[in-house]
Amino acid sequence: MGSLPESGTSSLDVAIVGGGIAGLTLALGLLSRGIKTTIYERGRSFREIGAGIGFTPNAEWAMKVLDPRIHAAFKQVTVQNGTDWFIWMNGGSEEDGAVLHKMYLGERGFEGCARAEFLDELVKSMPEGTVQFSKNLAGIVDEEGQDKVVLKFADGSSAEADVVIGCDGIRSRVKQFVVGEHFQATYTHKYAFRGLIPMETAYARLGQDKTDTRHMYLGPDGHALTFPVAGGKLLNVVAFVTDPDEWPLPEKFTAPASKTDAVKAFARFNPTVRAIIDMLPDELNKWAVFDTYDHPAPTFIKGRVCISGDAAHAAAPYHGAGAGFAIEDGAVLAYLLSVVNDRDKALPAEEDDGSKALLIRKALEAYNAVRLERAHWLVQTSRYIGDMYEWQDPIVGSDPKKCADEIDWRCRKIWHYDIDAMMKETKEYFTKQLEATGSS
Ligand SMILES: Cc1cc2nc3c(=O)[nH]c(=O)nc-3n(C[C@H](O)[C@H](O)[C@H](O)COP(=O)(O)OP(=O)(O)OC[C@H]3O[C@@H](n4cnc5c(N)ncnc54)[C@H](O)[C@@H]3O)c2cc1C
Repeated sequence: MGSLPESGTSSLDVAIVGGGIAGLTLALGLLSRGIKTTIYERGRSFREIGAGIGFTPNAEWAMKVLDPRIHAAFKQVTVQNGTDWFIWMNGGSEEDGAVLHKMYLGERGFEGCARAEFLDELVKSMPEGTVQFSKNLAGIVDEEGQDKVVLKFADGSSAEADVVIGCDGIRSRVKQFVVGEHFQATYTHKYAFRGLIPMETAYARLGQDKTDTRHMYLGPDGHALTFPVAGGKLLNVVAFVTDPDEWPLPEKFTAPASKTDAVKAFARFNPTVRAIIDMLPDELNKWAVFDTYDHPAPTFIKGRVCISGDAAHAAAPYHGAGAGFAIEDGAVLAYLLSVVNDRDKALPAEEDDGSKALLIRKALEAYNAVRLERAHWLVQTSRYIGDMYEWQDPIVGSDPKKCADEIDWRCRKIWHYDIDAMMKETKEYFTKQLEATGSS
């Protein structure tokens, strides 16, 4: 990958809290626009938990807009689907192989990769010194009239920036600053068994057609997704079940589980699904699904501070779109901040009488206006589709036609979102904002 433009002449100094997919991709997008950017990450190194991840077509488009290097990084590690179709199967009937719905993915659409491999590729493009590790954000001070926003860390140190973007995930500290304590993600009463199966094993039992592209199996109180990762050497399995109980460890999203638990949970499924579960390793983890459905953040911004990715809109993973939406956020933010940066750079230093802060606030208002509704909709539809996949919607039930109709329009709304139109809307909104403040 090529080198990034020089950010030494940047007028803006951006702090990103959190180095997950949202933070890393946004940082690359800002750096590629010549904007000085620092990531503050509480971990001692980058770390992606979980096995596989897939990106929907809208996410790939947003990657190209945010920074083509992100798209190149993804393509470097992705596994091409054997066929260009996403296949939803009835996993709950004894009859094996009943296809509920198929959606054309387009050429190389919705491919999967191993999370760690994608992260490694992104990190390769990150200039040295961009990331400060072991920086656990404890608080933020953004006072009117003050030149900079102050970030305070748990180790007693602090840092300053013109704008702070919270990409600090589902338990976001920045979100607490933006909207307060109330808007926490809650347990959805579903969890997932996640595992990887050597492809040779999976292929021998399931055959090629069930291993080389995405398959979603619907059934009673559970559903399972499989897709190839790691250059096609592994089959990624995410098997969700409904859980009537409370999640025992609210601060921890994983808990130990065994294959026996998974076998029991999928006992009512057909032989294909039972075979998939049977191939999982004996010792498993279960992953709680939390989302912000019950407490959606009324806004993603406060002054010169905003939230993005799971910090802003943690969705249940059933559409496989949460990280993709973070990249959509990033495309909007990077564009807006590049406009602010260019405008502020053009101003003589003596004329910067708070206009930079005003521009930043207006830019974040535009971000909020463009992103809030779609992001909250993802949270809603993800919650819904999880229930529907598990035959819990009283109207749809296990009716194949009704299931297919719900899947179709919801996926289309995600996958076929026009990223160029989103960018146009962003530009128009911001231009109007600037005109209204006399800054155009
Ligand atoms: C089972 C499952 C499957 C999924 N599959 C898909 C999929 O196929 N496709 C898709 O698009 N999405 C998928 N998602 C959703 C996707 O994983 C998330 O939306 C995405 O990873 C969120 O990225 P993020 O950077 O916003 O947050 P995170 O990945 O949570 O990163 C947050 C970062 O912030 C750091 N941090 C937290 N607090 C602080 C602090 N106080 N100070 C400093 N740093 C801090 C953390 O250490 C972490 O590095 C899935 C989710 C799950 C659970």
